[in-house]
Amino acid sequence: LFLEPTIERDVAIEATVPQANYLLNVLRLDEGAAILVFNGRDGEWRAQLRREGRKRLFLVPTKHLRDQMPLPDLHYCFAPLKSARLDYTVQKAVEMGAGLLQPVQTQHTQAPRFNVERAKANAVEACEQCGVLAVPEVRDIVKLDRLLAGWDAARTLVFCDERAGAEPPLATLKPLADRPIGLLVGPEGGFSAAEREMLLALPFVRAISLGPRILRADTAAVAALAVLQAAAGD
Ligand code: SAM
Repeated sequence: LFLEPTIERDVAIEATVPQANYLLNVLRLDEGAAILVFNGRDGEWRAQLRREGRKRLFLVPTKHLRDQMPLPDLHYCFAPLKSARLDYTVQKAVEMGAGLLQPVQTQHTQAPRFNVERAKANAVEACEQCGVLAVPEVRDIVKLDRLLAGWDAARTLVFCDERAGAEPPLATLKPLADRPIGLLVGPEGGFSAAEREMLLALPFVRAISLGPRILRADTAAVAALAVLQAAAGD
């Protein structure tokens, strides 16, 4: 379970109302039950449930189990999709090792408003489900040209481009495995010709193809993250 406050041995933390509801009514845990908690800073702890009255629930950290892990150095840049598929993409990116989520507004982005709080909640849920202790940063949406103008040229931007040549993506990515990386996946309508031209002209951009089929944007995200993992040998 993700907690906001600092976690220290024997210092009780009060569960929020939704957390208490989840633990008591959904998971049907009770006084004395043990759960795993983390806050993205203090590693993973075992905590015991302590009830006070009918409504209040406290979590008492009893044992430090794992040290804090660093955030993976992978920036995942993506054109937001509509609701459910956006939730899916955020969750999968976190499961697959993204350390920062950067929504990008492109010419053909169909869902230009981006709900940062919802994405953060999805990122936390993904961390809880896969045992990741470092919660990725979720940034606000930026326009593609502004993102590229402020890009740190030491970080290679891997551009998923369905028109890229036939070179297998692993061959392109393996030499980059130990370097800082950003991954860019476009919207359902793809990048415009002008955007593609702008991307390909930049020295820090490397285009990869994910095969001869045009994948849905959410599928392309998972495929690209899997190839990056394979290149890094994770
Ligand atoms: N431009 C296309 C069109 O409208 O027919 C499709 C865009 S595709 C649905 C969405 C995004 O997924 C693309 O912008 C690209 O980043 C990525 N993508 C999909 N298939 C890909 C492939 N075979 N190789 C590399 N990237 C791909």
